[in-house]
Amino acid sequence: MGKKENNLYWHKHSVSAEDRWESNGYKSCVLWMTGLSASGKSTLANAVNKRLHVMGINSYVLDGDNIRHGLNKDLGFNPESRRENIRRIGEVSKLFIDAGLIVLTAFISPYREDREQVRNLINSGHFIEVYTKCPVSECEKRDPKGIYKRVRSGEIKEFTGISAPYEEPENPEIILETDKMNVDECIEKILDYLIDNKFIHFIKRPRGVFVK
Ligand code: ADP
Repeated sequence: MGKKENNLYWHKHSVSAEDRWESNGYKSCVLWMTGLSASGKSTLANAVNKRLHVMGINSYVLDGDNIRHGLNKDLGFNPESRRENIRRIGEVSKLFIDAGLIVLTAFISPYREDREQVRNLINSGHFIEVYTKCPVSECEKRDPKGIYKRVRSGEIKEFTGISAPYEEPENPEIILETDKMNVDECIEKILDYLIDNKFIHFIKRPRGVFVK
């Protein structure tokens, strides 16, 4: 039994995250994608997830709408709710990391302070901030969900990058200039980071077969 706080006890797990890293051959972490709408967060989170799966690595994507349909369906879009949204996603990421997964999140998460809060919550070194950097003009040109059009027509009032701020990461672990790099180049840059920084010790490819 661990530390007592407000009559709550933190139970120490019989299998630690370290035990799992050892047996899995890779170290769990969160790849926290941040950037404007249509900058490529969701596309890249899902593409990397697929690549990791093929390599035999357990991973999971936490994406905006899915979370708001369930866990966060009580939250709106005012500043406090947006903050609470990110805080809960950070807590879920922390649990998934403990369970041995590589987590990929795809939320605009426009405020530096909120992202730093998640970084501090998660053990240092396991929070990888990935900035999908793309000019708003290019995001608006892409507009895969037609959101920018709705913003310009006045249907959506407050929108990050247009009428609400986006605070750029100051020191992200990975920057992907998605207007200059194609999707495959971005995927490779993320995988290279995971290998170079020993998150992936050895590669299993295809799923289940070990290749040192
Ligand atoms: P977000 O999740 O950030 O809102 P999406 O992934 O939904 O963005 O949309 C990004 C759009 O940009 C997609 O239509 C995708 O095909 C396109 N795109 C073009 N180049 C890239 C790139 N290098 N990385 C990611 N997406 C890209």
